[in-house]
Amino acid sequence: MSSSREHSKVVIIGGGVSGLTLATFLHKSGVPCIVLERRERAYVEVRQRAGVVEARGVRMFEQWGLADKLLGGPVAQTIDYRVNGNSRIFEMGVDDGTQGRFCTQQMLVNNLLRELIDVMAGDVRFGVADIALRNDKDSRPQVTYADAGGSHVIDCEHVVGCDGNLGVSRASIPDGVLHTTTHEFGYAWLAALVEAPVTGHPIMAVSDHGFAAQLPRGPHRSRYYLQCTLGDRIEDWPDERLWDEIRLRMGDAAIGIAQVHDKDIIALRSVVHAPMQYGNLFLAGDAAHLVPPTGAKGMNLALHDVDVLARALVRAAVDGDRSMLDAYSDTCLPHVWKYQEFSAWMTDTMHDAGDPALHGEFRQAIARARLDTLFESPLAGRLHIEFQRGMV
Ligand SMILES: Cc1cc2nc3c(=O)[nH]c(=O)nc-3n(C[C@H](O)[C@H](O)[C@H](O)COP(=O)(O)OP(=O)(O)OC[C@H]3O[C@@H](n4cnc5c(N)ncnc54)[C@H](O)[C@@H]3O)c2cc1C
Repeated sequence: MSSSREHSKVVIIGGGVSGLTLATFLHKSGVPCIVLERRERAYVEVRQRAGVVEARGVRMFEQWGLADKLLGGPVAQTIDYRVNGNSRIFEMGVDDGTQGRFCTQQMLVNNLLRELIDVMAGDVRFGVADIALRNDKDSRPQVTYADAGGSHVIDCEHVVGCDGNLGVSRASIPDGVLHTTTHEFGYAWLAALVEAPVTGHPIMAVSDHGFAAQLPRGPHRSRYYLQCTLGDRIEDWPDERLWDEIRLRMGDAAIGIAQVHDKDIIALRSVVHAPMQYGNLFLAGDAAHLVPPTGAKGMNLALHDVDVLARALVRAAVDGDRSMLDAYSDTCLPHVWKYQEFSAWMTDTMHDAGDPALHGEFRQAIARARLDTLFESPLAGRLHIEFQRGMV
């Protein structure tokens, strides 16, 4: 076993969508960085989650000259909002040219890996263990880790924590520095990836039996989401029950059975850790905040963070000007809270609209009224579209 010591301008902890996007932007700008990822590449390449890069994210990738290399084609500009099977198609088309693009998180991550590693010869180290960081006020940061070859030290100027909600970066910040705001919605989603495409429009359904959605995940697959209780386990949802509930909640007895690839249960919560920086450590993506998935904003919010941070790191590296870095958290947090508000609005509108114990009758009437407003008021409709596009 050996040990090594080296230097890099930036060390990024976590090679998910935020870490890889940031590293790609930095490489493109000539700022050296090293990405440390605890999983093997094969694992990172197959992890599924989000499905769409919103219009704001598309514009961001265009500005970095990467949109056509990384993203797929335009997404459906419609959503089928249903209440107890009665569907209305909400049109999201706008005439300013930028549309959201279809791009599953898995596809974006794979395209980033190809661009960063194969094209730019970026330094991404997979399967590393025992990552620890030193981020004292008076000295330069240092990151240590271990791999099969031994133990390693990287001295650097900035560390970026892109290691998700349970990573080591945020945990390294001393107690009392961060203020955490949390809201638990009190229910969960059963998420099922199925071998069946969305044949009409993407669906978001309010129903007496709980929320359901069908969203595209490529030409042959879609993801169904069903509201369930926090105590539910995967074993409580055999395929037969899954399809019965989908038909019931979508109000469509004709939905056929398809192969179910995987099922997961996810508690819905909002979390914001502030500030998003401490000394020379900067938090981005799920390491800094979680949004409930109803608004489809988690990955998109992570992309916003790393866009702001990449520009700030480039400015600091090229001009020695730290002002954008110092303002990173203050720049990002208002955007984070707008996305939290939109995600909470979507979540509150779509769930619990049937259970009498949870004021279901009232909640369903409120859901109808909110959707009526979207369809009847051009002003409200336009605001909803701008939130969906990430342009608010
Ligand atoms: C069911 C579901 C559906 C979703 N749908 C959408 C959607 O439709 N639209 C949307 O925008 N968002 C969606 N999201 C949210 C989105 O997936 C996340 O917000 C996004 O993955 C955040 O990216 P990240 O890079 O910050 O974190 P991650 O993608 O979690 O990446 C973190 C990386 O850090 C690594 N890591 C962790 N700990 C360490 C460590 N100690 N050392 C080194 N590496 C470490 C992990 O292995 C991982 O590779 C959804 C999420 C879920 C759960």
